[in-house]
Amino acid sequence: MIGIFGGTFDPVHFGHIRPAVDVMQQLALDELRFIPCSVPAHRDAPVASAEQRLAMLTAALQDYPQCKIDQRELNRKGVSYMVDTLQSFRDEEPGRTLCLIIGMDAFYGLHQWHHWQRLFELANIAVTYRPGHELNVESLSPQLRAAVEQRQVNSKDSFLNKQSGAIIFMPVTQLDISATAIRNKIAKQQPITDMLPVAVNNIIQQQHIYAG
Ligand code: ATP
Repeated sequence: MIGIFGGTFDPVHFGHIRPAVDVMQQLALDELRFIPCSVPAHRDAPVASAEQRLAMLTAALQDYPQCKIDQRELNRKGVSYMVDTLQSFRDEEPGRTLCLIIGMDAFYGLHQWHHWQRLFELANIAVTYRPGHELNVESLSPQLRAAVEQRQVNSKDSFLNKQSGAIIFMPVTQLDISATAIRNKIAKQQPITDMLPVAVNNIIQQQHIYAG
């Protein structure tokens, strides 16, 4: 099973890396791909350029050889829809199962993703808990709640046995870090050293990214 972890990574931080690696280990995934988006569908354009986000991600993942960067969204024109990304994996390697990894905050908006029901035909979905974003099934949108009621599995074995369409909620290392908080701290010249790898901080300082 291939783990697919998409994001803006503006910048990448330990709150991305640690939970994704936890999922990889807990599910014994064969591979973990970090996929920086080009044009995000549901939010403002990133602050850092695509080149800068890619440089930061490359630096961050040097110490995590099990994590690979996949540039297919950066290489694709237009809005980066996850459904297109998953479809391209399927076209390349039809026999391999896909595990889309998303944080709880992103999961709450899943029903607004482009062709979101199709995601369940293409991949299984592992949702990671994130500080400040508890799971409360009653507060999900009715469509998403119905999807959870139909698709949630509680054991890793059940998840791994599914070709697609399963949802599992995974306890991972809880790190209260967001890229927004990092950007805000940099703008206020506050330290961010414990929130992301040193190599990423070096690039941010050298290129004055997020300095305002
Ligand atoms: P921003 O603050 O700019 O919105 P972010 O820190 O949430 O950014 P994204 O690149 O938007 O980072 O997130 C990519 C994915 O990583 C999403 O699925 C998101 O839920 C998840 N994620 C980000 N931070 C954490 C965290 N601290 N713990 C768990 N998941 C996280």
